Amino acid sequence: LKKLLIVGLGLIGGSIAKASHGYFDEIYALNKSQGTLRTAEQEQVIVRGFSSAQDCPKDIDLVCICTPISTIVPLAKQLFAAGCGRLFTDAGSTKAGIMEGMNTAGIPFIGGHPMAGREHSGYAFSSAGLLHGANWVLTPSDEKQDTQALQDWITYMGACPLVMNAAAHDRAAAAISHLPHILASALTEVAGEAEEKDAMVRKLAAGGFLDITRVASSDPTMWQNIFLNNPKYILEMLREAQNILAEWEKMIADGEAPALYDRFAKTKAIRDSYQKDFAEKAFREEV
Ligand code: NAD
Repeated sequence: LKKLLIVGLGLIGGSIAKASHGYFDEIYALNKSQGTLRTAEQEQVIVRGFSSAQDCPKDIDLVCICTPISTIVPLAKQLFAAGCGRLFTDAGSTKAGIMEGMNTAGIPFIGGHPMAGREHSGYAFSSAGLLHGANWVLTPSDEKQDTQALQDWITYMGACPLVMNAAAHDRAAAAISHLPHILASALTEVAGEAEEKDAMVRKLAAGGFLDITRVASSDPTMWQNIFLNNPKYILEMLREAQNILAEWEKMIADGEAPALYDRFAKTKAIRDSYQKDFAEKAFREEV
């Protein structure tokens, strides 16, 4: 792979361009905003930026689409029709719908999702370090499709490739990312409403509240796209959460002391094991 075209030079696209420095001979970008393209050219993050698919070079080896989910398949179709790109991938946060759109259009595509992000959007917040140590899901179109070239590139960027099925990705992402997003938003809304009745609520908010609600500060358009593209699994996880919340309501209303203790002990054990895995992975990457 010698020539890379990044489509959407925002937080993720900009980070990928910066982390890919030295891997490709030439990195190009297609982006809506001309200002971002000129900045990235001046910073020598890209060789050249374009604002129309028709103007992009034809001899691109890999096209990586990092725009909002709803635009990924239409942009790939435009580029494919213009004869630009031998292989396509993306960074979209949901996978099954995108895979279906690409397969139907006959586009040579391997789905991608770097499991890294920030609550801020845009090229100005991008950095090569954002992808460091992140799991990077790859969803091939079928079992025979060779993902090695993408795995090598992902490893170069300091991330960890993880090949899986698109539906399995969407279900797991609903559990560990999409449902937590609803809960962070709901907690923020509860605090906002409580504050309307009592201004002291804001004064008492400390680190714990900010930790658990951090992702509620993310870009609303991105999350609107995610929720429109993964309803089946998000609803499955939301129903599971509603059942669990109903159990909590009963335990609290009935003053069930042992049950409350057991529940906190059980969730502490699960959370501690996630934290341990995370710390061990970070340690392995450091040494
Ligand atoms: P962003 O808003 O920072 O960047 C998107 C970029 O795409 C912008 O530069 C915008 O100008 C450009 N763009 C939008 N529509 C375009 C079009 N039609 N043609 C050309 N350029 C266009 O968004 P982001 O956070 O980098 O997210 C990009 C993708 O990555 C999304 O699909 C998102 O689901 C996925 N993703 C985001 C995160 C995260 O935490 N932000 C993490 C992993 C994956």
